[in-house]
Parts: sequence; C-alpha cells; structure tokens
Amino acid sequence: MTGLMIDVSTHEQLSFLGKRVLAGGQVSREEASWLFSLESTADIFDLMSWANRIREHYKGNKIHLCSIVNAKAGACSENCSFCAQSSAYQTGSPRYGFVDPEPVLEAANEANLHQVTAVGLVAAWKGLKEGPMLDEVCDRISELASTGKTRPDASLGIIKSQKVADRLKEAGLECYGHNLESSRAFFPKTCSTHTFDDRLETIGYLKKAGIKICSGGIIGMGETREDRCDLAYTLKEIGANVVPINILNPIKGTPFENVPPLPPMEVLKTIACFRFILPRQEIMIAGGRTINLRDMQSMVFTAGASALMVGNYLTTLNQPVEKDLQMLKDLGLDPNWDSHDFADQEEPVSQPISFRPRQVVAV
Ligand code: SF4
Repeated sequence: MTGLMIDVSTHEQLSFLGKRVLAGGQVSREEASWLFSLESTADIFDLMSWANRIREHYKGNKIHLCSIVNAKAGACSENCSFCAQSSAYQTGSPRYGFVDPEPVLEAANEANLHQVTAVGLVAAWKGLKEGPMLDEVCDRISELASTGKTRPDASLGIIKSQKVADRLKEAGLECYGHNLESSRAFFPKTCSTHTFDDRLETIGYLKKAGIKICSGGIIGMGETREDRCDLAYTLKEIGANVVPINILNPIKGTPFENVPPLPPMEVLKTIACFRFILPRQEIMIAGGRTINLRDMQSMVFTAGASALMVGNYLTTLNQPVEKDLQMLKDLGLDPNWDSHDFADQEEPVSQPISFRPRQVVAV
C-alpha cells in the first residue's frame, strides 16, 4: 500500500451509466449534468469509449451523410448573432433569390455520386407562408423527390400554419431542419427577431404533418455546459430524429465574431454527452467541424456521432467529400443506409432511472 489515492469512481460511474443506456435505460438530467462536468482528458476518453459503444449498439457501423443547397441566400430579416446571412450585419456573404430547378438537380446528382442520402434545401428568410413562394418551394421539393436519387429535406424557417406543413409533406418532404440553436435560457442571446417558442411551434406543425424532425443547435456561442445539457433534453422531449451539432465558426461582422473557440476536447465531450442522452437519434456533426476540430475530426464518431454533413456549408467551406468518404472507410464505417427508414431514431417510452453514489477507492 503506497498511500496513493486514485479516484476510480468516475470510471465506475461511467461504466454504470453506459451499461444502463446500452440496456435501453436513460440518464437523468442530474447524471447528464455530471457527464458534462467531466474535465480530465482520461475521463473524457472514458466517456467517449462508452458513447462509441452506445452508437455501435444502436446504429451499427452506418453513418448518415447529408448535404445542403443554399436555395435562397443572404438578406435575411432575422438577426441571429452567429449568421453571415442576416441583413443586420455586414459580412460580405452572397445574396440571391430562390433557386431554379437546375442547381437543385445538380445537387441531387452530386449527392448520389458520393453516397449522400439526403439533400436539404435551405432558405435564408424568416419563414414560409401560403402563396406563390410556397408553390415554388413545393415544386423544387417534388423535383428533388422525383429524381429518386436522394431524400428531399428542407430547412425553410418558421411556419405559422398547419396548411404550410401539410403542403410540404404532400410535395414529398420527408425531414425538416429546424434547429433550436441553444437552450431556452440562452436563445435570446442568439436572436431577438423571433423566439424559442416560435421554433417549437413550427416543429409542432411539422410533426403533425408527419414530417420527421432534424433539430439541434450550435455550441461554442458562449453558452454554458448546462445550456448544452438543456438543449439535449429539449431535443429529446420534442422527439427530434436527427440532431445536428454545429460548432460556432465566428463570422467577421457578426456579434459573435470574437467569441473564443471551444477546445476540441470540450466539443468531443459534448457529442459524447448528447449520445448518452439521445442514444437512438442520428447525431450529426455539421457546420464548424473543420475549423474547430482540425485533425481530430475523425474522433467525432468515437464520441458517438452517427451522421455527418458533407460538402460545403451555407456560407463556409468544408473539406472535400472524397476526404470524408476516405475517413469513413478507414474507420470501417458505412454511409450506405435506407434514408427513408426513421424507425431506429424514435424515442421509446421512458424508464425509471437511479444514480449510484460516488466512491473513492484507495489502492
Ligand atoms: S440563421 Fe436563418 S433565420 Fe437566422 S439570420 Fe441566418 S438565415 Fe436568417
């Protein structure tokens, strides 16, 4: 006995919680908060190894790839503090009106070529109402769906009527991207031209229309770990199918241009915590991964991610798709999956959970 004290309880607790999630159980808000509070690299790698097991258990080696087309760029009326496309900021970002069919069909061809299973039409505006623009959007969605080359997704902002959601569904839309951005508490720091509740209301209409939900947020905007934890639980509550995690890429000219970057280990830990909280959902790493994670990008899968946004983002560049495909191949991961099957992303009925007290063991 040397008198050396090693706290092995963290390892034991991670194993306890990891086994519970693997067995179909859940982590409580208090337990998740503890996961987010882990600091040492050894503990974070331990957490990630369990997140990786959970991903493999629920998702196998399948990785969902998704890409986006900026269907209407810039001059947006909203003032989201992270966004290059808001008319409130001078960012030099491109501006153009709603796209013709050709670029959308080109995106479908490219997606098909690279095993990308979903293409999302993204528009920089507050939202979509009934009228000629909705007709045009529905045309683009129908054209995309009729190619049979990719799943048509869209991210078109706030919806204030059930009829709009129903029309999108009729046009062939399967999944709608609508991030909550952050926790309810932090949201007002990201935007003041619409509210967190506007976003939840939109998701309500979409779900009622039978459209699957792609909703996540952005980390690294100055929010706390508790905000990230709250976001994950709200996403669980709303039944998001796909959960994009964006990592802030501070854009010059926006209010967040000088926000310091999160350390890569904090990003990976956040992904792992999301996997513990959302074991069945597609956790998708989206904008900001290249600039924030650099050589550590492949570790997102070890941290529990099961999906990747590939190709360029709305206003920033990504690494080439070929490089991402090689990364997946090297990791033994497979981008081929049935993109129309959402069954493995649904939340089960919640189960009772308990938290074992911590112990300090002398060795
Ligand atoms: S995030 Fe969307 S709604 Fe907000 S400013 Fe950018 S384009 Fe507009």
